[in-house]
Amino acid sequence: MVDVVIAGGGPTGMMLAGELRLNGVDVLVVEQDPEPKKLVRSLGLHVRSVEVLDQRGLLGRFLAAGKQYPAGGSFAGIVKPVPERLDTAHRYIIGLPQTVTDRLLEEHAADSGARIRRGCAVVGVSEDDDGVTAALADGTEVRARYLVGCDGGRSTVRKLLGIGFPGEAAQTEWLLGEMEATEAPEKIAAAVAEIRKTQLGFGLGPTGYGGWRVVVPAGRVAEDRAAPPTLEEVKERLTLFAATDFGVHSPRWLSRFGDATRLADRYRVGRVLLAGDAAHVHPPLGGQGLSLGIQDSFNLGWKLAAAVAGWAPNDLLDTYEIERRPVAAEVLDLTRAQAVLISTEPGPQAVRRLFAQLMDFEDVNRFLTERIMATGIRYDFGAGHALLGRRLRDVHLKRGRLYELMREGRGLLLDQTGNLAVDGWSDRVDLVTDVSEELDAPAVLLRPDGHVAWVGDDQRNLVDHLPRWFGDPN
Ligand SMILES: Cc1cc2nc3c(=O)[nH]c(=O)nc-3n(C[C@H](O)[C@H](O)[C@H](O)COP(=O)(O)OP(=O)(O)OC[C@H]3O[C@@H](n4cnc5c(N)ncnc54)[C@H](O)[C@@H]3O)c2cc1C
Repeated sequence: MVDVVIAGGGPTGMMLAGELRLNGVDVLVVEQDPEPKKLVRSLGLHVRSVEVLDQRGLLGRFLAAGKQYPAGGSFAGIVKPVPERLDTAHRYIIGLPQTVTDRLLEEHAADSGARIRRGCAVVGVSEDDDGVTAALADGTEVRARYLVGCDGGRSTVRKLLGIGFPGEAAQTEWLLGEMEATEAPEKIAAAVAEIRKTQLGFGLGPTGYGGWRVVVPAGRVAEDRAAPPTLEEVKERLTLFAATDFGVHSPRWLSRFGDATRLADRYRVGRVLLAGDAAHVHPPLGGQGLSLGIQDSFNLGWKLAAAVAGWAPNDLLDTYEIERRPVAAEVLDLTRAQAVLISTEPGPQAVRRLFAQLMDFEDVNRFLTERIMATGIRYDFGAGHALLGRRLRDVHLKRGRLYELMREGRGLLLDQTGNLAVDGWSDRVDLVTDVSEELDAPAVLLRPDGHVAWVGDDQRNLVDHLPRWFGDPN
């Protein structure tokens, strides 16, 4: 009997494995692919993911592998200056290929003690009162207390559970790949700049590690979406848009993706949960999908660990869907809006011009930036202080940085009054008595995912609120 089986070892599954291990949960990740993927989908991580990595002490290795770019000021390819006042100490995104993100998260999961079984798919899931049984493709079975489907957009777990996945089917498809090109780089750059004046779905740029990354609209949505396109197809489509195929050859890999936009009806059925692309898919406009999955795992990890450890309040696990599903719904809407704005039709083009003017207002630019960066999220914890329900940015304390104190993945009471205590919960919540010029609140109680669960200065009021997130006192 394992505590948690994770179906799917992509970024969502590996992040979740790391979070669970932080809390001592016995984890098995079952991944169908025998080897890590060569396919590079995501090219980077937004601000909230950067913060999350910092909160777990992982940021250094991601920064060493990637490049920093200024955060924000861009929406549907409309580029404006980065807003001046952003509520974060991390004003950058990290550019790095998904293969590297995947590798670093897998290394983190393995180093934390997660067991990873590659080359074996989950093909069946059945649940009873005591646990879940996962049937694997090799004919064996694994028994667990919980199972999380992190198995991507075509999730087997979601289908086995019969969870609805309503939304829009793909209308448009793009061919994607990495390959060599014989044309001179300056000529490619000039041609691409010209085409992108009207076709924002077209891209051909250096990968940064040799060769070119090609994205070109396909002629139609393929019947077999899992089958990669041929080089001939890519050449044909390039020629249609650019009147040349730039001499592309020797593809490293080829793939296709579409603009299907769907959200799972439920994120949980009993002891089985969904996270990442298994729960939501959308076109990569704005590049939010991987970050969304990492943040699902960051929300779910400590709650599931609390359920395994036995101290979780009754409805704690349900708050995962309550909090994360609306966030995904908002991301889906944001990509729908961007899809309209990049259309070449006259109506959407007029709206795009209007949007470009609106983004000159700092507040509009900041609003959109916070949406894309996922730093503006506020979970509904009821009425109260402006910080309640929001994640707290990193702040400087006398003893160092707040995020450095969150590496253990526990709750944290940051008390600037020096009068508060967490007796009874000290095995789950750290007390940090310190002050910060950047924090305008007497004391804040942070959940392990950094969201503010309480603000105040009254011990009795604090004690009334602690059980909601951290269970009964010892
Ligand atoms: C062209 C493109 C560009 C993108 N760019 C960005 C970007 O810049 N930024 C960003 O944040 N996001 C981006 N995304 C989205 C991002 O790639 C996905 O959101 C992300 O990979 C989702 O992670 P996941 O772990 O949830 O799912 P996946 O990455 O799909 O991983 C699921 C894993 O489960 C495994 N699996 C599937 N079925 C089973 C089974 N039955 N049993 C066991 N294992 C199974 C799969 O092999 C896979 O390893 C982009 C996507 C595309 C297509």
